[in-house]
Amino acid sequence: MAADIRIVPCLSDNFGYLVHDPATGATASIDAPEAAPLIAALDKEGWKLTDILVTHHHGDHVGGIAELKAKYQCRVVAPHDANAKIADVDLRVEEGDVVKVGGLSARVLETPGHTLDHISYVFDDDRALFAADTLFSIGCGRVFEGTYPMMWESLLKLRELPDDFKLYCGHEYTASNVKFALTIEPDNAALQARAKQVEQQRAAGQPTIPVTLGEEKQANVFLRADVPSVAAAVGLAGESAADVFGEIRERKNNS
Ligand code: ZN
Ligand code: FE
Repeated sequence: MAADIRIVPCLSDNFGYLVHDPATGATASIDAPEAAPLIAALDKEGWKLTDILVTHHHGDHVGGIAELKAKYQCRVVAPHDANAKIADVDLRVEEGDVVKVGGLSARVLETPGHTLDHISYVFDDDRALFAADTLFSIGCGRVFEGTYPMMWESLLKLRELPDDFKLYCGHEYTASNVKFALTIEPDNAALQARAKQVEQQRAAGQPTIPVTLGEEKQANVFLRADVPSVAAAVGLAGESAADVFGEIRERKNNS
């Protein structure tokens, strides 16, 4: 049976997500930015939280764990990197591990760069990627703990997933990402189309998520650092993709 996925806006611009298995009643929260909106969403659906799948240790992704765990006695699954200070962890996972949420399966991909512990969860049967702060729509996370080559490798790993997979990311940053991406690829038709769509979605008060990976591969400049025209656009024709990626990321930091 297919997973039921709900988007739960949290804090100022975080996305919380609930992934529910209708067959068993199991429900996972992907990260826990804050407890109250997640509890309200669970109550509305009549779901009980069984698992929290944590992507990385930042406060805006783990802040709701303690309260949710106290209320639901749910299992907390987190990255294996024990240096990352995440409280209340029941299970630590690493690359290739498969986490069961009732009858659903989530595959773990290590995607370091934003933080060293960052992991992403892939629900292959449901064609869903939860990439938190590694890959945003038309953007990517800031590289706080890792290096640009490390982050580029992580993005390549996500880019290998099939085009029909849907991206569920950690933040609603799409509009500002689009504005920046257009400074590098003003003539990218897929980006222009996404810009129009995002404008309509935001005007209607709708989230810009999910989006297909196929669309992201065409429109997200951070996934396109190995495209010659992108390298040329940032003055690095012929340089390595990791260097081009680093230049794009620096420009975004300073934009
Ligand atoms: Zn983060
Ligand atoms: Fe975040």
